[in-house]
Amino acid sequence: MKTYSLISEMVKAVQKEHKAGRSIGFVPTMGALHDGHLSLVEESRKANDITVCSIFVNPIQFNKKKDLEKYPHNLNEDLRLLQSAGCDYVFIPEDKEIYPEGTTGLEINFGTLDKVLEGKFRPSHFKGVAIIVKKLFEIIAPDNAYFGKKDYQQLLVIRNLVSVLQLPVKIHACPTFREPDGLAMSSRNLQLTIGEREIASLIYQTLCKVKEKAGHLPVKELRQWAIKKINSNPAFSVEYFEIVDKNDLHILESWKEKENALACTAVFLGDVRLIDNMELFS
Ligand code: AMP
Repeated sequence: MKTYSLISEMVKAVQKEHKAGRSIGFVPTMGALHDGHLSLVEESRKANDITVCSIFVNPIQFNKKKDLEKYPHNLNEDLRLLQSAGCDYVFIPEDKEIYPEGTTGLEINFGTLDKVLEGKFRPSHFKGVAIIVKKLFEIIAPDNAYFGKKDYQQLLVIRNLVSVLQLPVKIHACPTFREPDGLAMSSRNLQLTIGEREIASLIYQTLCKVKEKAGHLPVKELRQWAIKKINSNPAFSVEYFEIVDKNDLHILESWKEKENALACTAVFLGDVRLIDNMELFS
């Protein structure tokens, strides 16, 4: 496994692979890797000759400085995991390599896609995501790129980016990996205290109950029920819980379009903000 921190070197390496006719799969990450990330690497390895992973904590997608400062880093362990997962190249640029003159702009109209759910509570987050993903795609020039459904809205934003800019890369959506108690794997789980970690599966349990109740209670009532259920434990505070259409994230008013129903939530457990989602009829 080779690691590069300079764009020029990374570009040279992938160009060589392309010239040799090898397909490239790409997994962008922010590090502090877990089995969810490694499942994306595995998907990439199955379908491509070469797998490239990037580790870059993208400062411009954090709208709170403290959140960025607290974000976990574990580079040596990440490299060990990627090596044993069979990754071929790791791109680990520094901030100044990616943003030498500060942030570059990108004006893409995502419609409502980047303004609801996460977008409502993290303004400019998806713009930051779109800027880095576009840059990374330009550097790595992958044939295929792998993203987790755990960040469902991000997946839709990236699909939109690729479609609007007609980027020559195929986007693959991968299932959410969970801990044995159901908590969605996330780098942020490392920030939970032992006590918080013990109760964190309430989010998953509530999503499962919502799936059971879907179609039996009116949508609005079910949403209220879920918020109350999570907030009933004072360690939790729901930022949003919405039942939306998984194609364009519009809020469902009834179960008429229920095949596409997706429950999405962001919850503070202490200081840690966790997100999760679940398809309700699949
Ligand atoms: P991150 O490092 O959080 O930016 O995530 C990098 C990629 O891993 C994104 O495509 C995420 O959606 C994906 N990912 C994060 N957590 C999980 C998980 N629990 N299961 C599957 N994919 C995940």
